[in-house]
Parts: sequence; C-alpha cells; structure tokens
Amino acid sequence: MSKFIDFNQSVYPFPTKPKILNPNEIAFYYKHIQSLLNKKNAVIVAHYYTSPEIQILAEKTGGCVADSLEMARFGASHPAITLIVAGVKFMGETAKILSPKKNILMPTLESQCSLDINCPEKDFIQFCNENIDRTVVVYANTSAAVKARSDWVITSSIAVDLIKYLKNLGQKIIWAPDRHLGNYIQEKTAADILCWKGTCIVHDEFKSQSLKMMKKMYPDAAVLVHPESPKDIIDIADVVGSTSQLIKAAKILPNKSIIVATDKRIFYKMQLVVPEKSLYIAPTGGAGAVCRACAHCPWMTMNSLHGILDALENGKNHQIQLNEDLIEKALIPLKRMLMFADTLKCNN
Ligand code: SF4
Repeated sequence: MSKFIDFNQSVYPFPTKPKILNPNEIAFYYKHIQSLLNKKNAVIVAHYYTSPEIQILAEKTGGCVADSLEMARFGASHPAITLIVAGVKFMGETAKILSPKKNILMPTLESQCSLDINCPEKDFIQFCNENIDRTVVVYANTSAAVKARSDWVITSSIAVDLIKYLKNLGQKIIWAPDRHLGNYIQEKTAADILCWKGTCIVHDEFKSQSLKMMKKMYPDAAVLVHPESPKDIIDIADVVGSTSQLIKAAKILPNKSIIVATDKRIFYKMQLVVPEKSLYIAPTGGAGAVCRACAHCPWMTMNSLHGILDALENGKNHQIQLNEDLIEKALIPLKRMLMFADTLKCNN
C-alpha cells in the first residue's frame, strides 16, 4: 500500500536563472561578500549542486561545500553567528532547527525542492495517522513541519544503515518522500516499508535506454548513481551513493572515465578530486524523454553571488524564520540522525 500524489496538480514555477557573470563582476562580488562576512561574523555553507563561483567563495572564506548531512554538521558546530546557506529551503530550515539562536540567511527563500513540495504537511500527517503502528522516517528533503511529525530524519548517505538498524529492532517503517530512494532502501534491507510517492525532478529524468547506449560508447566507464534515480538506472550502477560517497568513489575506482547520474554541478568538486579522469553526465534525453531539469536542479540554480551579497546587506528578506514549538519538535528526529551518524562514524 502506498500513498500517491497527483503530479498533475503539482506546480513547478520554474525560476529564471541568474545572469552569467564576467570575471570582473565575480571579483566585485567576492570582494564585497568577503568583507561583509568578516564584519558580520558570518560563514557560507554551500551544497555541491550550487555554482562553482559559490563553491569557490565558500571554501575561500572558511565555509564549507558538502552534502546536506555535512552542511548540517558544519553549520551547527561553526562559531559564526550568521550562516549563509546556499542550497534549497529545507537546508536553511535544517540549519535553523539545529542552531535556533543563529541568524540563518539564504541567497533566496524561493529555492524549493520537488520532494519537499510533494510532501505537504497536512496529507503527510494524515498518512502517518492512518499507519500509527509504523516508525516514521523522513528524508532530509522535507519541510520543518514534516520533520516535526517524524521519528527520524535521515540523509541518503546513512539511510540504508538506519533502516537496517530499525528493521533489526522489529520496526515497520513509513518512508517519505522519495519513492526511488525508498525502493532502493527496501531492496537493500528487505524491511517492511510503506513508501510515499515523491520524486526528485532532476534524478527522475535519467533514462536507462540512453544510459545503456552511452555505456556502449564508453565501455570502460564506471557508472555512479545517486539513489534518488529510478530503479532501472540504479540497476546499471557500479556505485550507488550520496553526493559525498560518489565523489569518494570517483577517486577510489580505477576507471579513467566516469558516467555520473546526479546533478551535473557535482562535476566541479569531482573534477578537482580526479583531474586526470573524464567525467560524463548520464543522459536525460532519448526514448520517452520529457526532460524538465536536464541534470540540473532549477532551484539550486537560483543561488547567486548577488543573492549572497543582498542577504548580507539586507538580512531580513533572506532570513529563515520558524516558530519555537516547531523547532523543538523537529530537533528531536534531527538530533537522532546526527547521533546515529556519529555512532556509524565511530564504528567504521
Ligand atoms: S536536486 Fe532534486 S532533491 Fe535536490 S533539491 Fe533539487 S529537486 Fe530537491
């Protein structure tokens, strides 16, 4: 039994992309942002899917570029009083929940996520209440309100480990919102999982027929796949993992060519790690294609240097605000995730 969302009812108001900057404009923004970061005791926490200009700036100014788990960890432990979260809205909310006293700013508050959009609080709570005997595990890509209704929040890097752990405790699971990740975890663990039916509009676009043709063109290439991708893509993968795990795999694998099924902005960091290797994005075109995202998240694209500067200059229009009650409730499953991740780290 599964919960279906009517995707025809889903509205994706795809945003316009920020303008491409020339080197002088980039230098202008870097100079002003750097000075304001110092003045306001602020640091940038950026996701791998943001633009190379933002990733470079984050690292250059003592911030971090990471997956959502590491972003959460870094932001919570950093002494800065203001965090600039370059990513999508749920990442800003997670930072606020973990650091309620900090000022959490985002380059834009409009950057959404299809998984979050397609898991509305009211429907989700009803779904949980109809299946009260199940432990509620939600992916990090959810709103603060959905997190507050859950028992556990989890990221893709440790999702399989957590579900194995819960299965061994004899628990039945509600998983939300990504159905591909849910199916992947179910296959890996054989746990009893009731799955919400959301998808990531970026990963859902990868096409297995075209990927098989690409494999014929590059027979020695390894295929790295994010588990938000459809099963027929995962079945072709040499490695399935979170963004951090895929970057690590690119380094460890002996293959000189690598085909990657995730947002193509990961290539900036991956290519730095393996400068000698050829990286190719997995195809989103071909048979049955109706590509809307083409391997790049339209909401991640909304993060811009201009947005970061504006956030530092006019904080209020960029500020994440959550009420205390919600923070208190959502903090419980988030803390469980961080403690579980720490335990895993110690055991490995
Ligand atoms: S890439 Fe997919 S999962 Fe990630 S923020 Fe964009 S829509 Fe959400």
